[in-house]
Amino acid sequence: MNDSVEARELLYEGKAKKLFATSDPDLLLQYFKDDATAFNAKKRGTIAEKGVINNAVSEVFFRLLEREGVPTHFVRRLDDRRMLVKRLEIVPVEVVVRNVIAGSLAKRLGLDEGKPLPEPIVEFFYKSDPLDDPMINAWHVLVLGMATKPELDRMVALTLRTNAVLRPFLAARDIVLVDMKLEFGRHHGEILLGDEICPDTCRFWDSSSGEKMDKDRFRRDLGRVEEAYQEIARRVGA
Ligand code: UDP
Repeated sequence: MNDSVEARELLYEGKAKKLFATSDPDLLLQYFKDDATAFNAKKRGTIAEKGVINNAVSEVFFRLLEREGVPTHFVRRLDDRRMLVKRLEIVPVEVVVRNVIAGSLAKRLGLDEGKPLPEPIVEFFYKSDPLDDPMINAWHVLVLGMATKPELDRMVALTLRTNAVLRPFLAARDIVLVDMKLEFGRHHGEILLGDEICPDTCRFWDSSSGEKMDKDRFRRDLGRVEEAYQEIARRVGA
């Protein structure tokens, strides 16, 4: 069945990916673009070969997570830029888990970037481009009906498990997992980890130099963006 999968109509085009229907109603094709945006698309550009790297890096992480008991939408990588995934009904909540203070946490609370947290912090953001992904809490998720209590509990448990699996895997490759954004969806009643896990959606810092090896190089005009993405791919064996 999977071997004869063919792309059908474009269902959705986002900032970094396109989603196509396939001949199987349960499966979609996720196509990774080189387009990069930041600050809610106020800054736009391209990162050469980013799509190829994010596809390959996401495959490494999804395979590892599946082995470690985190169910994901990953089925298999088809080629350089395309991944076959299970169709999800996306929960409109971005789940961020943090191990080190950075980004919006540093800004919002006036904290110094780079301080390790004694335990991971989990945050929720409402997925909405027009609203700039506002931060929300568990009450908003439940009372406004974005997910049920069992679904939310499962998403948090899978987020912490994902963090606990990826952190040591990356640490062994001299990469600090500072924070990452995860998305989940429903597939035949089960919550699965979806989207992608890559330098666009995580903060990766080199363990010894502290150098940023992720999309912050693009966001903050630090240069050597492509090299950083390639180095992450090399270190994780993508
Ligand atoms: N992130 C993401 N998509 C978003 C917002 C954040 O993938 O729309 C990731 C980001 O790359 C980082 C983590 O989520 O790894 C935490 O981001 P933060 O809240 O600090 O926001 P930022 O300052 O990056 O906008």
